Amino acid sequence: MLRLKNISKYYHETGSVVKALDSIDLEFANNEFVVITGESGSGKSTLLNVISGLDTYEDGEMFFKDKETAYFSKEEWEDYRKRNIGFIFQNYNLIESYTVLQNVEMAALIKGDDKEKRRKKSRHLIERVGLKGKENQKASTLSGGEKQRVAIARALAKDAPLIIADEPTGNLDKKTGESILDLLKEVAKDKLVLLVSHSFESVKPYATRHVRLFDGEVTLDKELSGKASDTEETVVDESEKLSKVTLAKIALKNIMATPKRSIFTLMISLFIVGVFAMVYGSYVQQAYSIQGFNYSGFANATENRLIITNENLSSFSEDDINRYQNMNNVLAVVPYDISFDTEMFIAQVNGSASRQFFRNGYAQHGSVLNRQSLQEGRAPENLNEVVVSSDDFNVGDELSLAFGYPRFHEEDQTVFYRNFTVVGISQSRTDFSFEFYFHDDYFSDGLTKAYGFIGSGQLSLHYEDDMLSFGAFEIMLSEDIAPGEISMNEYIKNQLGISSVDDQTLSLKFREPFEEFTYEQDIILSNVINNEMFSYKMHPDTLSAFFDDIPPYQMTLIVQDRFAAENVMSALESEDINMLYPAAQSDPFTEVLVIIMSIFMGGMALGVALIMYFIGYISLKNVMTAKRKDYIILRSIGLMKRELNLVTMFEMVMTMAFALTVVLVLLIINAEFVQFLPDYLRYYQTGNYIFMIVVLLLLSILLAFRFNKRLFDISVISAFKEQ
Ligand code: ADP
Ligand code: MG
Repeated sequence: MLRLKNISKYYHETGSVVKALDSIDLEFANNEFVVITGESGSGKSTLLNVISGLDTYEDGEMFFKDKETAYFSKEEWEDYRKRNIGFIFQNYNLIESYTVLQNVEMAALIKGDDKEKRRKKSRHLIERVGLKGKENQKASTLSGGEKQRVAIARALAKDAPLIIADEPTGNLDKKTGESILDLLKEVAKDKLVLLVSHSFESVKPYATRHVRLFDGEVTLDKELSGKASDTEETVVDESEKLSKVTLAKIALKNIMATPKRSIFTLMISLFIVGVFAMVYGSYVQQAYSIQGFNYSGFANATENRLIITNENLSSFSEDDINRYQNMNNVLAVVPYDISFDTEMFIAQVNGSASRQFFRNGYAQHGSVLNRQSLQEGRAPENLNEVVVSSDDFNVGDELSLAFGYPRFHEEDQTVFYRNFTVVGISQSRTDFSFEFYFHDDYFSDGLTKAYGFIGSGQLSLHYEDDMLSFGAFEIMLSEDIAPGEISMNEYIKNQLGISSVDDQTLSLKFREPFEEFTYEQDIILSNVINNEMFSYKMHPDTLSAFFDDIPPYQMTLIVQDRFAAENVMSALESEDINMLYPAAQSDPFTEVLVIIMSIFMGGMALGVALIMYFIGYISLKNVMTAKRKDYIILRSIGLMKRELNLVTMFEMVMTMAFALTVVLVLLIINAEFVQFLPDYLRYYQTGNYIFMIVVLLLLSILLAFRFNKRLFDISVISAFKEQ
């Protein structure tokens, strides 16, 4: 059955070469019980290792069932071992974290026995080696003798035609040793048993042949009495490839068997998945936020703004406003949404001119602020408070905001100015403009409304047949002027053909851009002011009162984001209103930009994944080294390369999948209840989930392969040595 021809094996130690086997010629039949003896260092273990394919040989030929093994590929060697060899190691090589039963069963499992068969066989063998009652004890808690017996049971569980044992009774007391030999003899009736023993006498009664080694050479080869009669060779069933389910079960068993390692691996995986989910989430959000960005129709085209008008262009009633206000997902209703399109500038900070004067900004509703967007402070609580989107300012700063386009004239600033106290700092949406978050009162304030209207429509002053149009920047607001009165400079007075100031009644007219309505009100010319500017001066109340009666035609519904907007839009679908969601308005340029951004962000996410790979590799290295010993044992029992890779991969993938589930659940809890972290999940679409899952799975597979690299490049013995 087994024939060794001229086999030599060398070990290359630094500088010198040790000849561990020297031209061995041996032939064994299938039913022999061979005891091998020899001094320590004579090559006994080496011989067994070579025969069992755990180690390589350099010279000579070895035939197994007349098949030349010299040209075996790695896979063929693995397969050879898996099907033919039951090996009992001198140092047991049990998987310490497994129970007795698991260790024994693993051999039968790898061989491909079904569950019932392997359970029955394993229990029987455990009983035979005298370990009944210890089936569920962990291997690590066994004594040396007990471990040896488990190793024997495991070797026998494979039903292999070759049982190879390296001093199996060395650690057993005489009585147990004898019972083990009885067992070996019994199960090995039709098998070839090669057994190394340092005490020939105790094995002699069982053996059919005695081989003695000295210095790597056979110095004795003698038939012994009890030679068994020739029997049929054991028929080795084609060992089936292990199914993926079986491999997954082995992986799960490994995870469960080493809870500490598994928990550590899980923690690292949680970290990796958590960081990746957050970073990738912020990329997805960023790629989203460019949409509608380029849409210039509105100063505020953020995802918080959903604009509605009646289809017949009639105004909205108080009831309408209340109804919208009470809708789900609507945070607030701004009836005069024109104020969102008023541009504003920071004119002064704490009383001195602002360096930021040239950077414009737009209004936002304070109700959209939440824990994520508010970096510092709180939301505005009254008309005079503001939250600004720039770290350049501090809570407590006094800002003077200029509305409309200002003129740059030290003495005669003729824009609207309003003072606000900074109560919070928000995250910035863009780098090139500010967002100012105001309280609801700001939006319903008369002056706010007035700024908005003047910015969009046309305000004019009429005297008899003459008229002059003017804009926001030509109005100076002053409490010095009585309400209902206006003052102007000499030049304007002459333009309007007014000869004297006394008791002149003019009319102030406003025409909105679509000429849907016009407003008119008398105003009394009170005096002439002395300046060079083309400007008018009036009391703030005059202006507020003038626009007070205009009913709301165009409103903005404030929503948290585009998903809320989508919900609101579908809820309002049946109503006779026009809806415009500027943030979703797109143009080809933006669309291309979104695609480029998505690719770019995907690339960045892969970069993050790469960093996570290295973090995972470094932090899991020790754990995986500890696991490596178990993998080598599994390999020595006969688990094939592909199978072992799959087991490792399943272990990583299962851990990662569990971590991913935990992270997703935490993110959902965060989104629904805690709001501690930004809710990126709402930006995730199916594709994003798939991308994330694929990247993380790939990452765990790469890690698994990285750890198993080289495991099969060297012989089992070298792998053990490396350990
Ligand atoms: P035995 O099992 O009979 O005690 P071994 O087969 O273990 O002997 O060793 C045979 C010879 O080969 C010894 O001289 C030993 O030092 C040497 N040897 C065994 N394994 C290695 C190794 N991995 N590297 C170098 N030398 C080795
Ligand atoms: Mg030895």
